[in-house]
Amino acid sequence: MRVDIGLDLGSTAIKVVFVENEKILWRGQTATVPGQEALAMGLIQKGRHNLALPEEQIGSLVATGYGKNLFAATDRQIDEISANALGLFRLSGGQARTIINIGGQDVKVLTLDEKGRVADFRMNDKCAAGTGRFFELAARLLDTPLEDFGELARRAKNHVELNSTCAVFAESEIISLLAQGVGREEIIWALNASVARRVAGILGRRQSEGAVFLDGGPAQNRGLVEALEDEMLTDIHVTAEPQFSVAYGAVVSLS
Ligand code: ADP
Repeated sequence: MRVDIGLDLGSTAIKVVFVENEKILWRGQTATVPGQEALAMGLIQKGRHNLALPEEQIGSLVATGYGKNLFAATDRQIDEISANALGLFRLSGGQARTIINIGGQDVKVLTLDEKGRVADFRMNDKCAAGTGRFFELAARLLDTPLEDFGELARRAKNHVELNSTCAVFAESEIISLLAQGVGREEIIWALNASVARRVAGILGRRQSEGAVFLDGGPAQNRGLVEALEDEMLTDIHVTAEPQFSVAYGAVVSLS
């Protein structure tokens, strides 16, 4: 038994996967706050403890994500775009051709060729709107956990619009909608739709060929997936645990 460890030091969350023969044996995550190295180490220890994994069975530790350089104790580092492409291509059984990754602070769109190589890459990191942070801000304003966003959006009876293209203005728009008595279901539906519009804007008019996958933490929000499908008029696929595909890709880079 040889278990490799993938560590994704993201802007918002640190993710760890333990992988044996391409299979994820254990995964864990924790919020990114100062002291990331110790947090990541703690998460790795937790995984080792849970799997009762002795030192000699640990293969390589590969780090990726924006904080990868902060973590010294790695065997290897890989950039997050390559890790995302490798991880999701493998998890999708070679089906993924477009990957939309919504992270805590940016949105990335990757186009892959039939071998999983990155053929095109676009990113929005200038603005919080459309990112995980934007959802977190809205969750605080609406006093609603992100885990409930998908279900609540489904219950929206009326479809209102959020017109602000900037997170700061969107915040005042949400406050004013609340003051007008608009329900949180309607506001969450509008949020998902506005993020979907932004993402479609990054993709531009390019017709995506092949399967489109959404990953990153916000991909757990079914309401966002449905909003993207409505906006892009195509099926959007999501793997079982979309927040771990980049960490998984770090391990795949070893093979
Ligand atoms: P990064 O890799 O940049 O740290 P992630 O891919 O981990 O970012 O995504 C973080 C974002 O995921 C958070 O900002 C939050 O908006 C979103 N998120 C986290 N958990 C959930 C959840 N259960 N449902 C919906 N969104 C979530």
